[in-house]
Amino acid sequence: MRTAVFPGSFDPLTLGHFDIVERAAPLFDRIIIAIGQNSKKNYMFSLEQRMEFIKKTFADFPNVTVDHFEGLTIDYCRSKNVNFILRGLRNPADFEFEKAIAQTNRTLTHENKIETIFLLTSAGKSFISSSIVREIISFGGEYEILVPEAVRVKI
Ligand code: ADP
Repeated sequence: MRTAVFPGSFDPLTLGHFDIVERAAPLFDRIIIAIGQNSKKNYMFSLEQRMEFIKKTFADFPNVTVDHFEGLTIDYCRSKNVNFILRGLRNPADFEFEKAIAQTNRTLTHENKIETIFLLTSAGKSFISSSIVREIISFGGEYEILVPEAVRVKI
């Protein structure tokens, strides 16, 4: 069984995340969207809300599930017996950051190497990020066009 963990904050889920999962779904038997919860971080949406957005959005994707974890992504992957991490790349800054993390994760996993699989952002989606969506929400702008239907809630 080829399973990938797609880790992130998803605060909130955007059409950029959706694009990556939709394109990766046929490539893996199973995708676990895993919300990494850091108790020191302040989120705009609660863990429950973020889980709900993802659950509703991917309700019609039989091989996509949602979960959450604290701690290192590789420890979570090990606990689920998963050897692939899925990440999206938007720009050179993502590349530099992700390269260091992926190489670290490979080094830290001695046996059963965990490989990170990258999908390039689709044309027209590369500018979308959760932080921009949060900024638009906090100033009352039209964030709805950047997020899936389930996230277009009254805020
Ligand atoms: P993190 O805090 O781990 O970066 P995010 O929720 O911001 O969590 O992102 C999770 C993953 O989704 C990352 O791999 C990120 O590169 C990817 N991603 C976010 N927005 C886009 C987008 N517009 N196109 C492609 N990938 C994206």
